[in-house]
Amino acid sequence: MNAHVQGCMVGAEIAPKPVRRESGQREVFCGLTGIVWLHRKIQDAFFLVVGSRTCAHLIQSAAGVMIFAEPRFATAIMEEKDLAGLTDANDELDRIVTQLIARRPDIRLLFLVGSCPSEVIKLDLSRAALRLSQKLSPGVRILNYSGSGIETTFTQGEDACLASLVPAAPPLGTGEDQLLVVGALADVVEDQFVRLFNALGIGPVQFLPPRRSTALPGVGPNTKFLLAQPFLADTARALEARGATRLTAPFPLGVEGTTTWLRAAADSFGVERSLFEAVTAPHRARAQRALTRYRNELAGRSVFLFPDSQLEIPLARFLSRELSMQLIEVGTPYLHREHLAEELRLLPSDIALTEGQDVDLQLDRCRATRPDLVVCGLGLANPLEAEGITTKWSIELVFTPIQGFEQAADLAELFARPLVRRAKLVA
Ligand code: SF4
Repeated sequence: MNAHVQGCMVGAEIAPKPVRRESGQREVFCGLTGIVWLHRKIQDAFFLVVGSRTCAHLIQSAAGVMIFAEPRFATAIMEEKDLAGLTDANDELDRIVTQLIARRPDIRLLFLVGSCPSEVIKLDLSRAALRLSQKLSPGVRILNYSGSGIETTFTQGEDACLASLVPAAPPLGTGEDQLLVVGALADVVEDQFVRLFNALGIGPVQFLPPRRSTALPGVGPNTKFLLAQPFLADTARALEARGATRLTAPFPLGVEGTTTWLRAAADSFGVERSLFEAVTAPHRARAQRALTRYRNELAGRSVFLFPDSQLEIPLARFLSRELSMQLIEVGTPYLHREHLAEELRLLPSDIALTEGQDVDLQLDRCRATRPDLVVCGLGLANPLEAEGITTKWSIELVFTPIQGFEQAADLAELFARPLVRRAKLVA
């Protein structure tokens, strides 16, 4: 174990917060998991995992089997015999893709998704994507990214997918600045944000990923983008490389996060403060009212967040500042200091932050403090529950609409529900 403590500089005016760095055994899902929500979001895309039987099992069990609809994900399983010759493996991949596209004319974008078995790593999927694009364009675009479990954690699958879309986005003509919201959001959340941005006079707003791959937003120096998710480092870098500018803001979780996130866009687009107040005040008031009940249930309760989804820091800010929960430890698989600077600034000064994971040591710290609630991955939840510790699956936070004013109380309820269930069990 090589844990050490270092200062975290998040801005000249901000006191550095100590961050414990750990490396060791980790308990996280791989990036293939992102396909579960991305295939629902981009409605004309297909995700072909090039992987092993393990990858096929993961995707099938995580995404479920669609009985009435044609699935939009599948696994091309690499067998032992494919190791015999890579040329054969490439031929086989071309054959599978050609067959798939012939059978499914609704597919306009095909992602070849790499995985971590060694036989897949040897395949050059970017060359395969190029080769197949030449054969199948203009009807179908073929892109590739890695969902490998060798990466840090499961939300990196979305980052890799969105980053692969950026070079395919058309250039944005010179003219007025355009707002781009980056990160997969539930359609209902996206629609709420569109209405708010329209009321503020900011628009038309574009989203990445788009609902249809044929509507990829233009990107260029006139693009100002707001990250809707805190795990999109590669996507942000790709957008910046095309001249786009990131607007610094906390993430739109809870009333405070949503307000400051919207305000970052409003300030950048010159919206009058009075208009911002008039548009957002009723939403803020309604969301505050809805939160009251959960604050009564959760205030003073202690929470320990294991590193899993990379949402942990914005969640900790919401739990601490809007629900008055007591943060025991906040772990994140990877701490992007720049993208999270505004969030870190809002956390309590005595916060225990951990980057990375040595799972046994972290479990020891957790057991020693006996928190009221633990937010963690599926692999840790069952053993902790068996020890009488109440848990919340962090992956549920990625599958559930939680961003925006209307969802603030739903987000709080996700943390209150396991405590209510536990109380009923012990009653
Ligand atoms: S990509 Fe790797 S970690 Fe993920 S399911 Fe496949 S083999 Fe397992």
